[in-house]
Amino acid sequence: PFDVLIIGSGPAGASAAIYAARKGLRTGIVAERFGGQVMDTAGIENFISIPETDGPKLSAALEAHVRTYDVDVISAQRAKELFPAAQPGGLHGVALESGAILHARTVILATGAHWRHLGVPGEEEYRNKGVAYCPHCDGPFYKGKRVAVAGGGNSGVEAAIDLAGIVAHVTLLQRGSHLKADKVLQDKLHTLPNVTVLTEALTTRIEGNGRNVTGLTYRGGDGADHHIDLEGVFVQIGLLPNTDWLKGTVKLNDFGEIIVNDHGATSIPGIFAAGDATTTPYKQIVIAIGDGAKAALSAFDYLIRVPVP
Ligand code: FAD
Repeated sequence: PFDVLIIGSGPAGASAAIYAARKGLRTGIVAERFGGQVMDTAGIENFISIPETDGPKLSAALEAHVRTYDVDVISAQRAKELFPAAQPGGLHGVALESGAILHARTVILATGAHWRHLGVPGEEEYRNKGVAYCPHCDGPFYKGKRVAVAGGGNSGVEAAIDLAGIVAHVTLLQRGSHLKADKVLQDKLHTLPNVTVLTEALTTRIEGNGRNVTGLTYRGGDGADHHIDLEGVFVQIGLLPNTDWLKGTVKLNDFGEIIVNDHGATSIPGIFAAGDATTTPYKQIVIAIGDGAKAALSAFDYLIRVPVP
Protein backbone atom coordinates (compact mmCIF):
# COMPACT_ATOMS: atom_id res chain seq x y z
CA PRO A 1 0.00 0.00 0.00
CA PHE A 2 0.93 3.64 -0.43
CA ASP A 3 1.64 6.00 2.44
CA VAL A 4 0.06 8.76 0.37
CA LEU A 5 -2.19 8.29 -2.66
CA ILE A 6 -3.05 11.45 -4.57
CA ILE A 7 -6.10 11.55 -6.82
CA GLY A 8 -5.72 14.12 -9.60
CA SER A 9 -2.65 15.52 -11.30
CA GLY A 10 -3.40 19.19 -11.76
CA PRO A 11 -1.29 21.80 -9.95
CA ALA A 12 -2.60 20.72 -6.52
CA GLY A 13 -1.95 17.01 -7.06
CA ALA A 14 1.49 17.56 -8.63
CA SER A 15 2.55 19.75 -5.73
CA ALA A 16 1.23 17.25 -3.15
CA ALA A 17 3.16 14.43 -4.89
CA ILE A 18 6.45 16.33 -4.76
CA TYR A 19 6.02 17.32 -1.12
CA ALA A 20 5.05 13.77 -0.10
CA ALA A 21 7.94 12.17 -2.00
CA ARG A 22 10.39 14.61 -0.45
CA LYS A 23 9.31 13.32 2.97
CA GLY A 24 10.38 9.83 1.92
CA LEU A 25 6.77 8.63 1.83
CA ARG A 26 5.67 5.90 -0.56
CA THR A 27 3.67 8.09 -2.92
CA GLY A 28 1.28 7.30 -5.76
CA ILE A 29 -0.64 9.67 -8.01
CA VAL A 30 -3.67 8.80 -10.12
CA ALA A 31 -2.95 10.98 -13.11
CA GLU A 32 -5.80 11.22 -15.55
CA ARG A 33 -4.24 14.23 -17.20
CA PHE A 34 -1.17 16.14 -15.96
CA GLY A 35 -1.84 19.84 -15.62
CA GLY A 36 -5.64 19.53 -15.25
CA GLN A 37 -7.35 22.78 -16.18
CA VAL A 38 -3.95 24.31 -16.89
CA MET A 39 -3.91 22.22 -20.08
CA ASP A 40 -6.94 24.23 -21.26
CA THR A 41 -5.27 27.56 -20.64
CA ALA A 42 -3.58 29.69 -23.28
CA GLY A 43 -1.54 32.50 -21.73
CA ILE A 44 -0.62 32.41 -18.05
CA GLU A 45 0.82 35.63 -16.63
CA ASN A 46 0.18 35.19 -12.91
CA PHE A 47 2.34 32.19 -12.08
CA ILE A 48 4.62 34.11 -9.78
CA SER A 49 8.28 34.35 -10.89
CA ILE A 50 7.41 33.30 -14.48
CA PRO A 51 6.11 36.45 -16.20
CA GLU A 52 4.68 34.53 -19.14
CA THR A 53 3.99 30.88 -19.93
CA ASP A 54 1.21 28.80 -21.42
CA GLY A 55 -0.86 25.81 -20.32
CA PRO A 56 0.88 22.99 -22.19
CA LYS A 57 4.32 24.30 -21.14
CA LEU A 58 3.42 24.63 -17.46
CA SER A 59 1.67 21.22 -17.48
CA ALA A 60 4.74 19.55 -18.99
CA ALA A 61 6.91 21.25 -16.36
CA LEU A 62 4.63 20.01 -13.56
CA GLU A 63 4.84 16.44 -14.88
CA ALA A 64 8.61 16.59 -15.38
CA HIS A 65 9.08 17.88 -11.83
CA VAL A 66 6.93 15.07 -10.36
CA ARG A 67 8.86 12.49 -12.38
CA THR A 68 12.21 13.59 -10.91
CA TYR A 69 10.99 11.94 -7.68
CA ASP A 70 10.21 8.36 -6.81
CA VAL A 71 6.47 8.75 -7.36
CA ASP A 72 4.33 5.93 -8.73
CA VAL A 73 2.42 7.63 -11.57
CA ILE A 74 -0.75 5.72 -12.41
CA SER A 75 -1.46 7.25 -15.81
CA ALA A 76 -4.69 7.75 -17.72
CA GLN A 77 -6.85 6.50 -14.87
CA ARG A 78 -9.85 7.92 -13.07
CA ALA A 79 -10.93 7.16 -9.53
CA LYS A 80 -14.58 6.12 -9.22
CA GLU A 81 -15.07 5.28 -5.56
CA LEU A 82 -13.47 5.99 -2.19
CA PHE A 83 -13.61 3.45 0.64
CA PRO A 84 -12.49 5.17 3.84
CA ALA A 85 -10.62 3.15 6.47
CA ALA A 86 -12.78 1.58 9.15
CA GLN A 87 -10.62 3.19 11.86
CA PRO A 88 -7.96 5.94 12.09
CA GLY A 89 -4.59 4.65 10.89
CA GLY A 90 -6.25 1.95 8.77
CA LEU A 91 -6.02 1.61 5.02
CA HIS A 92 -8.28 3.55 2.69
CA GLY A 93 -9.27 2.05 -0.65
CA VAL A 94 -9.71 3.83 -3.97
CA ALA A 95 -11.41 2.02 -6.84
CA LEU A 96 -10.38 3.05 -10.34
CA GLU A 97 -12.60 2.94 -13.41
CA SER A 98 -10.32 0.19 -14.74
CA GLY A 99 -11.54 -2.01 -11.88
CA ALA A 100 -8.27 -1.91 -9.89
CA ILE A 101 -8.38 -1.02 -6.19
CA LEU A 102 -5.48 0.89 -4.63
CA HIS A 103 -4.81 1.06 -0.89
CA ALA A 104 -3.18 3.85 1.07
CA ARG A 105 -2.75 5.07 4.62
CA THR A 106 -3.60 8.61 3.53
CA VAL A 107 -5.40 9.93 0.47
CA ILE A 108 -5.18 13.45 -0.96
CA LEU A 109 -8.18 14.40 -3.10
CA ALA A 110 -7.15 16.88 -5.80
CA THR A 111 -9.67 16.31 -8.58
CA GLY A 112 -10.20 19.99 -9.35
CA ALA A 113 -13.22 21.56 -10.98
CA HIS A 114 -14.61 22.61 -14.33
CA TRP A 115 -16.48 25.71 -15.47
CA ARG A 116 -20.05 25.24 -16.56
CA HIS A 117 -20.33 26.07 -20.25
CA LEU A 118 -23.11 28.02 -21.96
CA GLY A 119 -23.36 25.33 -24.61
CA VAL A 120 -23.96 27.79 -27.45
CA PRO A 121 -22.43 27.85 -30.95
CA GLY A 122 -19.05 29.60 -30.99
CA GLU A 123 -18.18 28.87 -27.35
CA GLU A 124 -15.85 25.93 -28.00
CA GLU A 125 -14.52 27.34 -31.26
CA TYR A 126 -13.41 30.61 -29.64
CA ARG A 127 -12.28 29.28 -26.25
CA ASN A 128 -9.09 31.21 -25.35
CA LYS A 129 -9.72 33.35 -28.45
CA GLY A 130 -12.19 35.65 -26.78
CA VAL A 131 -14.20 33.18 -24.70
CA ALA A 132 -12.84 33.13 -21.15
CA TYR A 133 -13.89 31.71 -17.81
CA CYS A 134 -11.53 33.31 -15.29
CA PRO A 135 -11.49 37.10 -14.83
CA HIS A 136 -8.47 37.01 -12.46
CA CYS A 137 -6.57 35.11 -15.15
CA ASP A 138 -7.66 36.67 -18.41
CA GLY A 139 -9.07 40.11 -17.48
CA PRO A 140 -5.82 41.99 -18.26
CA PHE A 141 -5.74 40.51 -21.80
CA TYR A 142 -8.86 42.62 -22.55
CA LYS A 143 -7.50 45.97 -21.41
CA GLY A 144 -9.29 48.75 -23.29
CA LYS A 145 -11.61 46.30 -25.12
CA ARG A 146 -15.35 45.57 -24.93
CA VAL A 147 -16.47 42.43 -23.13
CA ALA A 148 -19.62 40.71 -21.96
CA VAL A 149 -20.13 38.70 -18.81
CA ALA A 150 -22.73 35.92 -19.04
CA GLY A 151 -24.24 35.24 -15.62
CA GLY A 152 -25.82 37.48 -13.00
CA GLY A 153 -24.96 35.57 -9.82
CA ASN A 154 -22.24 36.59 -7.40
CA SER A 155 -19.40 35.42 -9.64
CA GLY A 156 -20.84 37.16 -12.71
CA VAL A 157 -21.38 40.46 -10.92
CA GLU A 158 -17.96 40.25 -9.21
CA ALA A 159 -16.43 39.58 -12.62
CA ALA A 160 -18.23 42.59 -14.15
CA ILE A 161 -17.02 44.88 -11.32
CA ASP A 162 -13.47 43.53 -11.65
CA LEU A 163 -13.42 43.84 -15.46
CA ALA A 164 -14.96 47.34 -15.46
CA GLY A 165 -11.71 48.60 -13.91
CA ILE A 166 -9.65 47.13 -16.78
CA VAL A 167 -11.67 47.04 -19.99
CA ALA A 168 -13.46 49.80 -21.94
CA HIS A 169 -16.99 48.48 -21.48
CA VAL A 170 -18.78 45.55 -19.86
CA THR A 171 -22.22 44.21 -20.78
CA LEU A 172 -23.61 41.89 -18.14
CA LEU A 173 -26.21 39.44 -19.44
CA GLN A 174 -28.57 37.72 -17.05
CA ARG A 175 -30.92 35.08 -18.36
CA GLY A 176 -33.63 35.68 -15.74
CA SER A 177 -35.53 38.83 -14.89
CA HIS A 178 -33.23 39.99 -12.08
CA LEU A 179 -29.65 39.62 -10.86
CA LYS A 180 -29.04 36.95 -8.24
CA ALA A 181 -25.91 38.50 -6.71
CA ASP A 182 -25.75 39.95 -3.18
CA LYS A 183 -27.26 43.40 -2.91
CA VAL A 184 -23.97 45.12 -2.00
CA LEU A 185 -22.43 43.79 -5.22
CA GLN A 186 -25.43 44.93 -7.28
CA ASP A 187 -25.26 48.39 -5.68
CA LYS A 188 -21.57 48.62 -6.51
CA LEU A 189 -22.22 47.43 -10.07
CA HIS A 190 -24.85 50.12 -10.66
CA THR A 191 -22.37 52.90 -9.70
CA LEU A 192 -20.02 51.95 -12.55
CA PRO A 193 -20.32 54.16 -15.63
CA ASN A 194 -18.97 51.62 -18.15
CA VAL A 195 -21.29 48.72 -17.31
CA THR A 196 -24.60 47.91 -19.02
CA VAL A 197 -26.85 45.35 -17.33
CA LEU A 198 -29.26 43.38 -19.52
CA THR A 199 -31.82 41.12 -17.86
CA GLU A 200 -33.96 38.53 -19.63
CA ALA A 201 -31.05 38.26 -22.03
CA LEU A 202 -30.26 34.71 -23.08
CA THR A 203 -26.92 34.34 -24.85
CA THR A 204 -27.57 32.20 -27.92
CA ARG A 205 -24.42 32.51 -30.04
CA ILE A 206 -20.84 33.75 -29.87
CA GLU A 207 -19.58 35.12 -33.16
CA GLY A 208 -16.11 35.55 -34.56
CA ASN A 209 -14.05 36.08 -37.66
CA GLY A 210 -12.36 32.68 -37.56
CA ARG A 211 -9.54 33.99 -35.36
CA ASN A 212 -11.18 35.96 -32.55
CA VAL A 213 -14.52 36.77 -31.03
CA THR A 214 -16.24 39.76 -32.64
CA GLY A 215 -19.65 39.72 -30.98
CA LEU A 216 -22.51 37.84 -29.42
CA THR A 217 -26.20 37.39 -30.03
CA TYR A 218 -28.79 37.17 -27.28
CA ARG A 219 -32.52 36.61 -27.22
CA GLY A 220 -34.19 39.46 -25.33
CA GLY A 221 -37.36 39.54 -23.24
CA ASP A 222 -39.12 40.77 -26.42
CA GLY A 223 -38.35 37.39 -28.02
CA ALA A 224 -36.15 39.02 -30.67
CA ASP A 225 -32.45 38.41 -31.34
CA HIS A 226 -30.06 41.26 -30.57
CA HIS A 227 -26.40 41.60 -31.50
CA ILE A 228 -23.54 43.23 -29.55
CA ASP A 229 -20.10 43.94 -31.03
CA LEU A 230 -17.35 43.03 -28.58
CA GLU A 231 -13.98 41.31 -28.22
CA GLY A 232 -14.47 39.05 -25.21
CA VAL A 233 -17.09 36.96 -23.41
CA PHE A 234 -16.57 35.84 -19.81
CA VAL A 235 -18.78 32.88 -18.93
CA GLN A 236 -19.64 32.98 -15.23
CA ILE A 237 -22.42 30.47 -14.69
CA GLY A 238 -20.73 28.22 -12.19
CA LEU A 239 -17.55 26.38 -11.27
CA LEU A 240 -18.39 22.72 -10.66
CA PRO A 241 -16.08 20.65 -8.43
CA ASN A 242 -15.24 17.15 -9.73
CA THR A 243 -16.55 15.49 -6.59
CA ASP A 244 -19.64 13.52 -7.66
CA TRP A 245 -17.74 10.30 -7.05
CA LEU A 246 -17.20 11.28 -3.39
CA LYS A 247 -20.85 11.69 -2.39
CA GLY A 248 -21.57 9.83 0.83
CA THR A 249 -17.92 9.84 1.99
CA VAL A 250 -16.12 13.11 2.85
CA LYS A 251 -18.37 16.05 3.73
CA LEU A 252 -19.17 18.38 0.83
CA ASN A 253 -20.78 21.84 0.99
CA ASP A 254 -23.87 22.88 -0.99
CA PHE A 255 -21.73 23.60 -4.04
CA GLY A 256 -20.18 20.13 -3.92
CA GLU A 257 -16.83 21.44 -2.67
CA ILE A 258 -14.91 19.18 -0.26
CA ILE A 259 -14.98 20.85 3.14
CA VAL A 260 -11.40 21.25 4.42
CA ASN A 261 -9.96 22.90 7.50
CA ASP A 262 -6.90 25.17 7.52
CA HIS A 263 -4.66 22.08 7.31
CA GLY A 264 -6.42 20.60 4.30
CA ALA A 265 -8.04 17.87 6.41
CA THR A 266 -11.47 16.57 5.35
CA SER A 267 -14.18 15.18 7.62
CA ILE A 268 -12.48 11.73 7.55
CA PRO A 269 -9.19 11.14 9.41
CA GLY A 270 -6.33 10.43 7.00
CA ILE A 271 -8.13 11.89 3.99
CA PHE A 272 -6.98 15.32 2.88
CA ALA A 273 -7.94 17.52 -0.06
CA ALA A 274 -6.43 20.41 -2.00
CA GLY A 275 -7.13 22.89 -4.77
CA ASP A 276 -10.24 23.73 -6.79
CA ALA A 277 -12.19 20.67 -5.56
CA THR A 278 -12.26 22.13 -2.03
CA THR A 279 -13.71 25.02 -0.08
CA THR A 280 -10.37 26.88 -0.36
CA PRO A 281 -11.31 30.28 -1.81
CA TYR A 282 -9.96 31.79 -5.05
CA LYS A 283 -9.43 29.08 -7.61
CA GLN A 284 -5.96 29.80 -9.00
CA ILE A 285 -2.83 27.84 -9.93
CA VAL A 286 -0.58 29.33 -7.23
CA ILE A 287 -3.27 28.72 -4.64
CA ALA A 288 -3.79 25.09 -5.74
CA ILE A 289 -0.04 24.52 -5.62
CA GLY A 290 0.20 25.94 -2.10
CA ASP A 291 -2.80 23.89 -1.08
CA GLY A 292 -1.27 20.67 -2.42
CA ALA A 293 1.91 21.26 -0.43
CA LYS A 294 -0.15 21.92 2.68
CA ALA A 295 -2.20 18.73 2.27
CA ALA A 296 0.96 16.62 1.80
CA LEU A 297 2.59 18.10 4.92
CA SER A 298 -0.63 17.42 6.84
CA ALA A 299 -0.64 13.82 5.59
CA PHE A 300 2.95 13.45 6.80
CA ASP A 301 2.02 14.91 10.16
CA TYR A 302 -0.88 12.47 10.43
CA LEU A 303 1.30 9.48 9.50
CA ILE A 304 3.93 10.18 12.16
CA ARG A 305 1.28 10.50 14.86
CA VAL A 306 -1.38 7.95 14.13
CA PRO A 307 -0.90 4.46 15.55
CA VAL A 308 -0.98 1.64 12.99
CA PRO A 309 -3.92 -0.57 13.99
P1 FAD B 1 -7.42 20.86 -11.82
O1 FAD B 1 -6.47 21.71 -12.56
O2 FAD B 1 -8.84 20.91 -12.18
O3 FAD B 1 -6.88 19.37 -11.90
C1 FAD B 1 -7.61 18.27 -11.42
C2 FAD B 1 -7.19 17.01 -12.14
O4 FAD B 1 -7.90 15.90 -11.59
C3 FAD B 1 -7.50 17.01 -13.62
O5 FAD B 1 -6.40 16.51 -14.34
C4 FAD B 1 -8.70 16.07 -13.75
O6 FAD B 1 -8.72 15.44 -15.00
C5 FAD B 1 -8.39 15.10 -12.63
N1 FAD B 1 -9.57 14.36 -12.16
C6 FAD B 1 -10.85 14.80 -12.01
N2 FAD B 1 -11.64 13.82 -11.55
C7 FAD B 1 -10.84 12.73 -11.38
C8 FAD B 1 -11.06 11.41 -10.92
N3 FAD B 1 -12.26 10.97 -10.53
N4 FAD B 1 -10.00 10.56 -10.88
C9 FAD B 1 -8.76 10.96 -11.26
N5 FAD B 1 -8.50 12.21 -11.70
C10 FAD B 1 -9.53 13.07 -11.76
N6 FAD B 1 -5.37 29.99 -12.87
C11 FAD B 1 -4.35 30.86 -12.77
O7 FAD B 1 -3.75 30.97 -11.69
N7 FAD B 1 -3.93 31.59 -13.86
C12 FAD B 1 -4.51 31.50 -15.07
O8 FAD B 1 -4.12 32.18 -16.02
C13 FAD B 1 -5.60 30.58 -15.21
N8 FAD B 1 -6.27 30.48 -16.38
C14 FAD B 1 -7.28 29.58 -16.50
C15 FAD B 1 -7.91 29.43 -17.74
C16 FAD B 1 -8.89 28.49 -17.92
C17 FAD B 1 -9.52 28.33 -19.29
C18 FAD B 1 -9.30 27.66 -16.82
C19 FAD B 1 -10.36 26.61 -17.00
C20 FAD B 1 -8.71 27.82 -15.58
C21 FAD B 1 -7.70 28.78 -15.39
N9 FAD B 1 -7.08 28.98 -14.16
C22 FAD B 1 -6.01 29.83 -14.06
C23 FAD B 1 -7.49 28.22 -12.95
C24 FAD B 1 -6.51 27.09 -12.67
O9 FAD B 1 -6.32 26.34 -13.86
C25 FAD B 1 -7.05 26.20 -11.54
O10 FAD B 1 -7.25 26.97 -10.38
C26 FAD B 1 -6.07 25.07 -11.19
O11 FAD B 1 -5.77 24.30 -12.33
C27 FAD B 1 -6.66 24.17 -10.11
O12 FAD B 1 -5.77 23.11 -9.87
P2 FAD B 1 -6.27 21.73 -9.24
O13 FAD B 1 -5.08 20.86 -9.24
O14 FAD B 1 -6.98 21.99 -7.98
O15 FAD B 1 -7.40 21.17 -10.24
